Amino acid sequence: MSTDCIFCEIVRGELPSFKVYEDERTLAFLDIRPVNIGHTLVIPKAHSHNIFDIAPEDWTAVAGTARKVAIAIEKAVGCDGINLAMNNREHAGQVVFHPHVHLIPRFKGDGIKLMPQRAYHEGEAEPIAQKIRAAL
Ligand code: AMP
Ligand code: ZN
Repeated sequence: MSTDCIFCEIVRGELPSFKVYEDERTLAFLDIRPVNIGHTLVIPKAHSHNIFDIAPEDWTAVAGTARKVAIAIEKAVGCDGINLAMNNREHAGQVVFHPHVHLIPRFKGDGIKLMPQRAYHEGEAEPIAQKIRAAL
């Protein structure tokens, strides 16, 4: 637990939230500023910062809860799809430094584009793949 973390405050019940699911390791609650209605955050109850330092058992638990809640969101809001997203560290857009996976309901024609993409240049992809493999 961290004393200056708003998601730890939500876990402790010191800050209100619209909870949708809770188990021993994880909590899911509505994002207060949704991309679309039903936008939900899944967090581990234990404090860490992001994908880089979350305990493997907590990450496994978060993944399980994300799947369970995604299925419920689809039934509840009648969306046409759901994006899972996670911002890790400041320059990836992370604002709250307690790990959280966004479950974002998507509706046909909602026009939201989350990931602008580009093509690899000739010869650019294989060296990157090699570096990642070497780092594992
Ligand atoms: P991120 O940029 O991935 O760190 O996103 C943090 C998310 O937390 C944002 O989408 C916020 O709208 C959401 N958020 C911040 N404070 C609260 C809160 N008290 N209750 C629910 N969601 C929150
Ligand atoms: Zn925390």
